[in-house]
Formats: sequence, structure tokens, C-alpha cells
Amino acid sequence: MRSFRRIIRRDLFNQSSSTSSLQHRAASASKASQRPSLTASVTASVSGSAILLAVPATMSNSYSTAVTKREFGVDPVPEEARSKPHHQKNKDGTISMFRNTHPSAGGPDFQEISPFLKKVFLASFSGALKGPNCENHKVVVQKPAFLPTRTSSSKLRATWLGHACYYVEYPSGLRVLFDPVFEDRCSPFTFMGPKRHTPRPCDIADIPVVDAVVISHSHYDHLSSPTVNELAKRHPEAHFFVGLGLEKWFRSSGIERVTELDWWETADMVLAPKAEGQDVKTPNESITARFSCLPAQHNSSRRPGDYNTTLWCSWGVSSSSPSAPEARSVFFGGDTGYRHVPKVPAVEADPKDDIYNPAADWEPPYDKLPVNPGFAQIGDFRGPFDLGLIPIGAYRPRYLFSHVHANPFDAVDIFRDTKCKAAMGIHWGTWTLTAEELDEPPQLLKLALKRRGLPETGLFDVCNIGESREF
Ligand SMILES: [Zn+2]
Repeated sequence: MRSFRRIIRRDLFNQSSSTSSLQHRAASASKASQRPSLTASVTASVSGSAILLAVPATMSNSYSTAVTKREFGVDPVPEEARSKPHHQKNKDGTISMFRNTHPSAGGPDFQEISPFLKKVFLASFSGALKGPNCENHKVVVQKPAFLPTRTSSSKLRATWLGHACYYVEYPSGLRVLFDPVFEDRCSPFTFMGPKRHTPRPCDIADIPVVDAVVISHSHYDHLSSPTVNELAKRHPEAHFFVGLGLEKWFRSSGIERVTELDWWETADMVLAPKAEGQDVKTPNESITARFSCLPAQHNSSRRPGDYNTTLWCSWGVSSSSPSAPEARSVFFGGDTGYRHVPKVPAVEADPKDDIYNPAADWEPPYDKLPVNPGFAQIGDFRGPFDLGLIPIGAYRPRYLFSHVHANPFDAVDIFRDTKCKAAMGIHWGTWTLTAEELDEPPQLLKLALKRRGLPETGLFDVCNIGESREF
């Protein structure tokens, strides 16, 4: 039992002694430094006119951070959100769990799930899944290059670090990591569970500055205990923003700089320059940022018994500074569904089959199925956004996953609803979580954009893992 426990990630047992927590943090940091380096072909990346440097080690943070939660209702919110319908309450009024409240979240019944569990999910978990094409995929991994200082770009710059993880460099100087997971497996176990098909493009130690870490929800492909502990160790000023119910988990891991928010709640962050520092360009110039916790259609769980006890969220993050006074904003979709569809033969057919039509569940009579209205509310109340990071993968079979995972057709409508001016696709190309091929989502994304009369490139794109784009 002892050795078994050793290879199970610590949070499954929720160990909370600060000594074991510190030991764990030291162990995970030293393990990370022993990781093999990138094995895939590595391409040097130079984008635009900015001079990019692969910074070899963490820079010391020249800013101190302070976070203040804003009172609910100070910022405009949809009327229906005020009564918090996503809270399921105990008799004493405390929250027992969270729930999706719209008909768009109606999931499959057990008869639909049961054969799938046997055929795909368990096979995937044991590593025996042979369905999707994982060997001959066309997902390219390159070594990322980060800006040399906080003030070296006037553009919003976003670097995909695989799956849902993005590192965003704001022109204000703010540096945000969204859903970082640097482990090989997204699983409570180190020996089983979905394993990366594409290597991580860099190590945590390669990321020069982290001011904020934003977590969408508790699933292992979005929240990793070793990763957040190493980030907290390397970036002691970094602040973690999480959904309601997750703050306790972070504190039990020894991470004190954490703020949990409910949907439509906001928090302000001020980064004040210290007296001296290598990345302070203008003394006395603070960087400000606003973090909005926003709805998503999903669920949460990390261990038996905690189903839906922590909140799943999307996020809006905007930031400005006196030398970059125009606030630039990012919508992070995290992991979300948009609508639930029944089994539609043309959608579920083999892509080589004549009847295959991936858009068939958007055609009559399915075009009237309810969509989650939360995304249009996000656009109305927090939009527009300069950049959307929107999930496009883990959707097949559709009738089993549509209620929790958007496919590219759903994602294009989320993009329009949230009023993003540009977007990048996330939640694909890294782990096999469902039955579509690893590199299929970008192909469907082009079809989906065309279907809505939008340009196939330059608006809602995908990029190589490790690549940066400017907006
Ligand atoms: Zn998830």
C-alpha cells in the first residue's frame, strides 16, 4: 500500500500537513529539473519585429502583487445570475454542490454511456485505446520563445503550451498562465491515465515571469498538483485565481496566494514595482489587471466523492498600465460545452464513410436545440475581448460529450457570442481524451468558420504547440 500511495498524486488523499507539502514541493521541483528535454523536432520561432529570447531561467519578479475582490454587483451582471441558480444548497443554506442550469447541458442517459465506458473510456485510461490516430498526427511542437522584458511589446502576445495551457504576455507587462499542466499524464496516477502524444514544449523553469495563474476547473488536464506547486515555488509573488470551492485545495497544498471567485465575480490585481529590478522600465508605474470569473457548461471532480463540489468556470482577464493605457482583454473558455445533441448517424459515421457530415447536428431538426445563453451574456456584460482562447477538441462521440465539450462548430458560435475579435483553439492536440483523431479539430474548425461565412484563417486559428501569436 505504501508504494502504491507513493505513485498516486498526493491530492487524491488530500494530505494537508505543511511539512509533507513542503517536501512534496521540493521533490516535484527536483523531479522537474531531471525531466528529459524536448524530443520532438524544435523550430526556432521569430514572430513580427520583436526580438525574442528563449529565457533560460526564471527572472526574479520585480513587482509585488496585491489582489482585491470586488463586491458582487458592483460590475454589471445578468439579472438571472444574481440569484445564483448554479448553487445547489443544503438545508442550512450552505452550498452542497454546483450544477449546470440550462437545458443545453442535458447529458446522455446511462444506456448511452454504458457501452461507451466499456469500449472507449476504460481502454483510454488503461492505455489500450487504439481508435484515434495518435502516431501519424500532424501536430507540430516547437520550443517557445518568450519576451525578454515586460515592456518589450506593444501587442498582446499568446503562446500555446499544449492542451488548454496558454501563456499570455500583455502589453501592460502582465504575465498570465492559463490552466498549466506540465506532467506527461493528466491523471491522479503517475503510472496510468491519458499520456501525452505531443511533448510539452518547455519546462516550467523556462517561463521567465508568472504574475497570475488562472484555473478553469479541477479536472486533471487543467489542474495539476505538481505543476501549481512548482509554479508557486518558482514565482512566490504569483497569484492563483480559481473557481468557488478550490481555494481550500490550494491552501492545503501550501499555496496561500489564491482567490476563489463565483461566476460573475471579479477581482483586481495591482502589481507595484519594487525599488529596483531588471524588468522594471518605468519606476512608480503599476500594472493593473481585472479577473472576471464567468460561466461555463461542464462539471468537476478529482477524486471519489467530490463530484461538482468545486466550480467550473471560464475567465476574462484584462490589463493596462500608464504606458499601455488601452486595456487589452482575453477570454479564456477553459473546458466547456455549448449544447447537448442526441446521436446523429451522419456525425458519428466514420469520416471515410459517404454519409459522414460533422455539421449534421447543426442542421434541421437539430438546429433549434438550445444553446447555453451564458456565452452571449459574457459577450454583452464583459465583451468585447481582444483574444478568445476557446476549446475545440474532445468531442467524439458527440452524443456523449457535447454537453461538456464544444466541438469546432460550437466553438465558432461561442466565439461570436462572447464578442472575441480573434481566437485561438485550445483543448486539443495533446492528450487523447475522446475518440476523434488528434489533429482533426483544426480541420473541422475551418469547416465551421466557412459555414458561418467567416474567413478560414486569420480570425479563429490554431498554431503549433510552443508557437506565439500577436494580437
Ligand atoms: Zn474538464
